[in-house]
Order: sequence, then structure tokens, then C-alpha cells
Amino acid sequence: MRGQHYDYISKKEYDCKKSEQFSISSSQNNSFQLKHTHLSIRVNPESRNITGSVVYRLNLLVPTSKIWVDLNDTLTCDGVISSVPIRAYRASQHQIEIEWPAPVQGNIQLQIDYHGTVVNTPGFGSYVTAFHDSVPILWTLSQPYGARDWWPSFQTLGYKSDTTVIDITCPTMNSRGDSQTAVSNGLLVSKVHRPDTTSRFIYQTNFKTAPYLIAIAVTNFKQANDTLRTTQGPLLNETFYYPEDTLFYQRRLENLQGFFDVFENLFGPYPFHAEKHGHTQWGRGGGMEHQTNSFVVDMGFGLISHELAHQWFGDLVTCASWSDIWLNEGFASYLTGLCYERLLNGYWYPIWKKGELARVSALDSGSVFVPDTSSVSRIFSSRLTYSKGAMILHQLRWEMGDTAFFLALKNYINDPQLRFSFSKTDDLIGYFNRASGKNWDGYFDDWLYGQGVPLYSVQFQQRGSKVISRFVQSTTHSSVSLFEQKLKIRWYNESKTDSVDQVVEIRQNDQSFEFMAPFVVASAVIDPDFLSIQRTLKVEPVYSDVPVVYPNPMRDQFEIAWAPPTATEGQVRVYNALGQVVLQQTWPSAKAIHEVNMRTFESGNYFLEVVFGNFRWTRTLVKY
Ligand SMILES: [Zn+2]
Repeated sequence: MRGQHYDYISKKEYDCKKSEQFSISSSQNNSFQLKHTHLSIRVNPESRNITGSVVYRLNLLVPTSKIWVDLNDTLTCDGVISSVPIRAYRASQHQIEIEWPAPVQGNIQLQIDYHGTVVNTPGFGSYVTAFHDSVPILWTLSQPYGARDWWPSFQTLGYKSDTTVIDITCPTMNSRGDSQTAVSNGLLVSKVHRPDTTSRFIYQTNFKTAPYLIAIAVTNFKQANDTLRTTQGPLLNETFYYPEDTLFYQRRLENLQGFFDVFENLFGPYPFHAEKHGHTQWGRGGGMEHQTNSFVVDMGFGLISHELAHQWFGDLVTCASWSDIWLNEGFASYLTGLCYERLLNGYWYPIWKKGELARVSALDSGSVFVPDTSSVSRIFSSRLTYSKGAMILHQLRWEMGDTAFFLALKNYINDPQLRFSFSKTDDLIGYFNRASGKNWDGYFDDWLYGQGVPLYSVQFQQRGSKVISRFVQSTTHSSVSLFEQKLKIRWYNESKTDSVDQVVEIRQNDQSFEFMAPFVVASAVIDPDFLSIQRTLKVEPVYSDVPVVYPNPMRDQFEIAWAPPTATEGQVRVYNALGQVVLQQTWPSAKAIHEVNMRTFESGNYFLEVVFGNFRWTRTLVKY
């Protein structure tokens, strides 16, 4: 159930974010602080036409003669007004290049007016006009490169606007006569309702927000306001839902308080407490973690915990590059696992771990790190970015222990340099290194940047209660020759009524360990508690170490050479071809060699059976 659902979320998230026509923005050439953004737009769920303007207040940190704003070429820029008059602007390659006659520095204001028909990416897209129950709806989803499709934005990662106003004007009623509501990030600060014409909804957030996390939606939403308990006191929880969807309404708070409790306990206060938390229903599968207002298709456990997790990992601290998207998605995916661990009596946690590890361990290649950010499908690879990203965290937790692991995460997410800003994988590794007192660079080289998974062939041999185990590791991809790894193995007796756990540290491709087992070991399961990424090829006893019969074929007598595994005495039986016992002897446990005389027996085939406790072994015996 969990795996399917997860697949579904990730697939849909990817579908949503996939955009066929994009080129990577060059606005990273800009060096400025984004002090304020005021986006004013006129939209209509029944039309793809948009008219708007955006006013930016920027602090140019260096003398700047040109600046680039991202805007899809299908939209028309109607003019640029700057507090310092510009020389010219030109639109090309999905950017507006704005040029001043001489370099400017410090605070400036920039207004960009635009209009046009928003490009309709077939099947998915950043600006969707659709229907629910025959009612028109409009929603946006800008991650990763879609903000420019509907507003002039600095969409390259690296910019968060200190404050943002989203000022939406839409028809008061749709053509069916349904009253429409526009939703966005932050708090509604003004609503002007002209009954027969248009309504204007002005939202404002005073938290730093990345452009891709700004979103709007318009339809005949109903609204439910609830209060959640948080460490900072009551929190407004807004739900915008379709009037016909009573199930969404009924489930709007299901598990939500539990998710808040888990995340606040582990990572600190909900970051946007001064404003709100919210969900807005949309028609896409899956969800999108728009800051303070996630858009979601339903109120399912996996989806809601994932999107709420993003308010910390993704929105508060945002990946600095789409190559590091696992800092958003791997974390959000793992935090769902932490909710399964801590909620619903932990029932689903092993199921979730098993499913995720199975997905990851089936991968022969591909890294969590995204080498090519021009491929949106690769950025949002559900197996690599989501599942493997989550499980390398899970495995690291087992490697370093809960105390250091959670301390590192708490310190990371509360780093003043990273909060309301951006982070790179190296920032995170530094926290793991400091919290544990160990260096984990090699771990990330193998598991994040490297590809593939370890494969294990295990052999074992037992002498008395001592068992020697030999682990041979190969890898599925040449980028990693050895995955250093802590592994748990559960060894069982024949009937699986008894077991003993062994923990080994894999540091070489071929390594032997020993442990004590108070029974005859018959089989083993590597990673029985779902802690590690690995694939088991085989676990088998070494047969040369079980009884050796000599000679065979034999004339008069033979001997069995072996170190019996238990302190109790054993039995040696010989059966004829009809399965009848023709000879039975006791084998004292102290003896390593047992002799059997068969001089008086007829020539032919026999079966030899040796039994010590739960250990049973047979061989064909030939007398001539
Ligand atoms: Zn996500």
C-alpha cells in the first residue's frame, strides 16, 4: 500500500513539475538582495489570459548595469519602470534584460508590466486551467522552472524575497454563477468583493519565500479554519476545499496534529507560525509544498506528512541547486517514515521501510545527486531523489546512532545561515561530522554521489557454538568499488525457533567474522530490521565443514570426520534402499571421528544420516 501510494505521489509530482520547454535561466548573474515582491495579476479560471505587473524592491550589492528577469517569451512585457531610469529592456530567450545607462547600486525599485496567454503545457504544467465537478479551477505549480510561465520572476535558486504580496483579481463569479475565491501564500490582508464584476484578494507573507514556492489557485473553494497546537501556541490552519468533496473536509485534520508534534519535537517550531498553515485542494495527483499553503489532492497520511515536512525541509531551508534536490525530497520522504515510526502505534513503519529499501536495493545505477538539472524527470526521480535520498538518511541514522543523527538534523535545520535561505549537501555533511565526531564524507561519496548498491554472498561454517561467517561484497556499479557499511545479520536454527543477531562492519570486499550461536545455524537473513541498503545474493553453509565420509564407496567400514556442533550426543543411522533403518549408533559429542563397520552388509546403495540436535545431514553411501 505504502509503496504504491508513494510511487503515485512521486510520479504525479514529477508529472506536475515536468516541463518540456525550458532553458536554464541566467539570472544567477544577478547579485542583489530581493527585499520585496508585489505581484498583481488579473486571472480567470475560464481563460488562460493573464494581465499583471510585478514590483520589486532590490538592493543591488555591486554596481550593476544589467539585470535579467525570467519571463516566458509567450508573455508580452509591456514596460519596465525603474526608480533609476533605464536605458532599455529587451525580451528574448525567456528573459527580460534590463539595462541602465550607468551602473547602479543600492536600493532600487523595478516595475514590470506584462500580459498574454499563459502557455499550456500539454497534460501538465505550471499554470493549469481545469474543472472539478464541472466547475472551472485554476492553479499554479512553478517548481522547478515554471514561475516564469506566469509571472516575471527571479526563478533561479538563490533568491528569496524578504516579503511578498500576491494581489489577485478574478471574476467574482464564474460563468455558472459560482462565487470564486482566490488563495495564495501567507495571510489574506484584504478582500474587495464587487458582486457583479470582480473580486480582489490580497495575500501577504512576511517570511522569506523562494519564487517557486509562490502559488495561486482560484475556484469556488469552501474554507475551514481550525486551530492546531504548536510549541509556539495556537496556529491557524486553513483548508480550502471543493464544496462537493465532503471527504476532504472530514479528513482535513486527520493525523495533522500528530505530524506537527513529531516534526516540532524533532526539528523545532513550525517555521511560519506567525502566519498560518494551510492546505488547498487541487486536481493534480500528489501535492506541492507551497510555503504556508500546500496544494494537495487528498488528505492521505503519506502525502500530508510529506508536504508538511517540506515546510521545514524545502521551504525554510531550500536546496541551493536542483542537483541537491534530495535535501528537499529525500528529507520529506524520510520524515513520512518518521511519522510512520511514531504514529499509528508504529504499525506501518516496518512495512514502509521494507518497501522503500526494496525499491532502492533494486537499483543497479543512478545517483541521489542530480548531475544533469536540465532533465526535470531526473531531478524528480522517485526512486533516486525520493526513495534513495530517504534511505541513505535512514541508513546513516543506523550507522551513527539516533542521538548524533537527530542532533545533526536539528542543528542543521536551525542554522541561522541556512534558515529562510539555501543549503548545499556539504552544509548538511558538516553537521553530521560535528554531531558524531566522525567524518562522513566517504559515506556520501559512496551513497549520494556514487551509484548502485552492494551485493552480498555470505558463507558460514560452524564448529561447536562458534560460527565463522565470510562476507563477500560486490557492487552493481563501477563508480563504487566498496560500500563501507554496518550490517545486522539474524542467524536461525533449522526450525527458525531460535535466532541470534550479529552486527558486522564491512570495510573490505572479502571479510570474515565470528560469533557464538547456542544452536546449529541453518540459515540467515541479512538486515532483518530494514536498516541498510543492500541486496543479498546468497547465504549458505560451507559444506566442507559438515561431516566428511571416507572412504565412500567403501568395502567394509568407513569413518565420519567432523566436529559435532553440540554438547549432546548424536545419532548415526544407515538406511537401506527401502528406507528401513539397518544400523543405528550413538556418536558421543566429544569424538571428532566416528567409525562404522558394515562388513556383514550386502553390497548396494545406502543412505547415511547424522543427527545432532536440530542438525540433520544425509549422504548416499555405496558399499561394493
Ligand atoms: Zn516533495
